[in-house]
Amino acid sequence: MSKKFLLEHDRAECIGCGACAAVCPLFWEMNDDGKSDIKGGKNRDDGWQELEIDEKDFEANKQAAESCPVNVIHLKKKDSNEKII
Ligand code: SF4
Repeated sequence: MSKKFLLEHDRAECIGCGACAAVCPLFWEMNDDGKSDIKGGKNRDDGWQELEIDEKDFEANKQAAESCPVNVIHLKKKDSNEKII
């Protein structure tokens, strides 16, 4: 089954609060540099990270995005590029 959503992290703006890793540890972890990483995510040239995720993993990552105090976690629909959060 193809992945339906794109999870994105504006890593440069992450303040390293740890909320995403606490809320959604399957997909988020803290790095030694004090910021978070998407587990298995790809580092883009623009400094963001991204990972394609399945529908079943959408809700957990939406909660991570909602927990982020600086709103640097985003979710998009892959087919339409529609930004969800
Ligand atoms: S919740 Fe936001 S600011 Fe906090 S570690 Fe995660 S991405 Fe960074």
